[in-house]
Amino acid sequence: MAIAARRARSLTTSGALAAAAIGSLAVAAGWAWGALLIAYFATSTLLSRLGGERKARRTASVVEKGGARDATQVLVNGGMFAVAAAGYLLTMHPVWRAVGAGALAAAAADTWATEVGTWLGGTPRSAWNWRRVPPGTSGGMTTAGTIAMVAGAAAIALLVHLLQWGRALSWGAAAGGLAGAVADTVLGATLQERRRCLGCGDYTERLVHSCGSRSRHARGIPGFNNDLVNLAASLIGSGVAYKVAELIGL
Ligand SMILES: [Zn+2]
Repeated sequence: MAIAARRARSLTTSGALAAAAIGSLAVAAGWAWGALLIAYFATSTLLSRLGGERKARRTASVVEKGGARDATQVLVNGGMFAVAAAGYLLTMHPVWRAVGAGALAAAAADTWATEVGTWLGGTPRSAWNWRRVPPGTSGGMTTAGTIAMVAGAAAIALLVHLLQWGRALSWGAAAGGLAGAVADTVLGATLQERRRCLGCGDYTERLVHSCGSRSRHARGIPGFNNDLVNLAASLIGSGVAYKVAELIGL
């Protein structure tokens, strides 16, 4: 599947290697783990293809990395799931299922929200000050994106239920998915580094703006980029999933 994704330019070569490593760990932990990962990967790839040209055009001046995902992007989204799969492989303890399902639900909620929001959503508003921001801006929210966010978390929770991982883990995945995606949005709107083009003055996440001029740090924590925000969201998603599953009864 990683080779196919590389051929289809959904992943870079390094991204495909990282995905293959995560996929192997998942399948080693059990077919349910593999099914969860494939469900996330297939739906995310499909959603990223829909409205591809419109999205690329709308977000080109803002997003740092478009199109194919590299190893860093794969690892910040799927690394926690892989750690959980390894933990489950070694201990067979259900706590690792909660961690893995939460991390994957957070990734699904965020990916679905981004892909649907930049495709069908109108002009997003910042989660921080509710001002209009260009499509693709981290922390931007649209109605379509928010509905997709809830659907993404719910889809993973439903799959966890169908795989018979139990009620506690289903609710854990739903809660973790929502918490992770909300954290992603809020961090993206507040602490994430925002850069400004030295040429035209537009806000961007790119080091070199699409107009050709360089950008410089404008606000947020320098170096706290989209990848680190995604990693933080993944940790929060798995943590909340674990806590909720524990409260209901693992
Ligand atoms: Zn510019």
